[in-house]
Amino acid sequence: MSDFNQPISGNDLARFSGPNTFMRLPVANALSGLDAALVGVPLDIGASWRSGTRFGPKQIRAESAMIRPYNMATGAAPFDSLQVSDIGDLAINTFSLSDSIRIISGSYDEILTNDVIPLAMGGDHSITLPILRSMARKHGPLALVHVDAHADVNDEMFGERETHGTVFRRAYEEGLILADKTYQIGLRGTGYGADDFAEAQGWGFQQFPAHELWHSSVTRMAEEIRRDIGDRPTYVSYDIDSLDPAFAPGTGTPEIGGLTTPQALELIRGLKGAQIVGCDLVEVSPPYDPSGNTALTGANLLYELLCVLPGVAQR
Ligand code: MN
Ligand code: MN
Repeated sequence: MSDFNQPISGNDLARFSGPNTFMRLPVANALSGLDAALVGVPLDIGASWRSGTRFGPKQIRAESAMIRPYNMATGAAPFDSLQVSDIGDLAINTFSLSDSIRIISGSYDEILTNDVIPLAMGGDHSITLPILRSMARKHGPLALVHVDAHADVNDEMFGERETHGTVFRRAYEEGLILADKTYQIGLRGTGYGADDFAEAQGWGFQQFPAHELWHSSVTRMAEEIRRDIGDRPTYVSYDIDSLDPAFAPGTGTPEIGGLTTPQALELIRGLKGAQIVGCDLVEVSPPYDPSGNTALTGANLLYELLCVLPGVAQR
């Protein structure tokens, strides 16, 4: 028998029963000994259009119940070599975004006193700034793979400097990320000005607009990004709206013409070998996701991220 936590098998307990944890993994109340931890951040008060991502963690967990431990395409066997648990939800303050941001950062500081890789289930994208603040305190400035329809580099929104649309400008200003090792993939949609994305390019961000990726594999692009990152500590921030709304309609700010599900898989699988120190999957909004497909896709992308973490066994 394995020494590592295992998801409950669908052959031992019907998939529609059991705990609502990620992949029905055990809940951990202590962080010591964990290699990777799923953590919910149920927040939607940083979003500018549709709300509902406060229900994201619960629904991602529900849809994750069908995922089995072995990755049949890549051979990855994360539960053969990593101790993984679901550590529950952060106790955000749903009446205050600024307080929630402090809570997230404080919680991450505590999580990161252990040698554990956190995988956050959002929540809108505003959760990523406090996470990056903590990650950078531990690891220094990070390489960043940011998959999103939006660059999220606004200066402010209604005078607010910490929202889901301002994250990566703040991260750049605060020196949390390595500007020339920041990759924004899937950008598209309409803008307020023709140069909305250009300023961030000037900082050094490398941008891969969705329309340049249409109809083709992104495997080579992902491998080139991985090579360019080298062995720098790397954070992956995955906004589900990077996918086309045909595949992931349940999200706050959908944009047509996005990535396909196979491209999303190619992208994550191509990062294998990077020194990933943390990830998030944000912007799943269950009220706009009547089929559950968006949460299902989000859950599977988190599993794929788990499969490319350092130290994962291959079978
Ligand atoms: Mn975003
Ligand atoms: Mn987005």
